[in-house]
Amino acid sequence: MAVSVEFHRVLTAAMNDLIEHGFDSQERLERWMRELRVAARASLVPERVLERELTSALTRAFAQAMNPRALSRRNPGVSEYTLLNVKPELRKKLDQRILASANLIRLNRDAAIEKTLQRFSGWATSIPAGGTRSVNRREESERVRRGIAGLPFEERRVIIDQGHKLVASINQVVAEESGAIAAIWHHVKESPGYQARPEHEARDGRFFVIRGNWALRDGLMKLAGRKYTDEIEQVAELPFCRCWYEYVTALRDLPNDMLTVKGREALASARKELRRFTNAYVAG
Ligand SMILES: [Zn+2]
Repeated sequence: MAVSVEFHRVLTAAMNDLIEHGFDSQERLERWMRELRVAARASLVPERVLERELTSALTRAFAQAMNPRALSRRNPGVSEYTLLNVKPELRKKLDQRILASANLIRLNRDAAIEKTLQRFSGWATSIPAGGTRSVNRREESERVRRGIAGLPFEERRVIIDQGHKLVASINQVVAEESGAIAAIWHHVKESPGYQARPEHEARDGRFFVIRGNWALRDGLMKLAGRKYTDEIEQVAELPFCRCWYEYVTALRDLPNDMLTVKGREALASARKELRRFTNAYVAG
């Protein structure tokens, strides 16, 4: 992974200096730590550029999630009216996600740089005053650089992952507003490098119940062995999870065993009602 030439240059100079003089003063160490910190920062994509990328990636994810086809896949039967109602809240989710992601990336960055400096300092303080000849420079500098070498790749992944989290939270808001009663877990096999979580694979196609929903309150549905959505982690909650929920808002879309007797009766009479209407309509 490419870390800038400048960082490499400073690191090499720092190591040569330590190898020659050894850890003879705190001052020597601190000077190099300062220089390395500056060079490490300079070797990364500037924060402002990254934030711009982040904002545009999440705004794009937001627009895609709000696309009617994408929405109705996750929230079948969502009405225009519901969408209109929640739009301000969804916008807020986007803004929150942008802020949170920028923070996350900043924290990751600081941690990676600190880790790199710690490695350097650990190595530097082990060299006796007066210097040493027994050092494998290449290996040591590789070890020090490893802390920030993978960062650009990691930051790309974080941005993509934050997009999935945003989409999940948007659909959750829409589902709540639509009066969803259950959700079907859909497992997505991740892109290269991702190990599918066996627990997530096992949940594919399973129903999870939304606690306190209207159909439960009215005694129309039951768990019948299912779990509540709040008893497990949310879709896209764990790092790089791309699983998603298809929300269920109507009794007729539940498996039969999840309906109570009262629920089945309600469904049957609703169907009868519907037939009566259609017949009346057809009869003109
Ligand atoms: Zn998953």
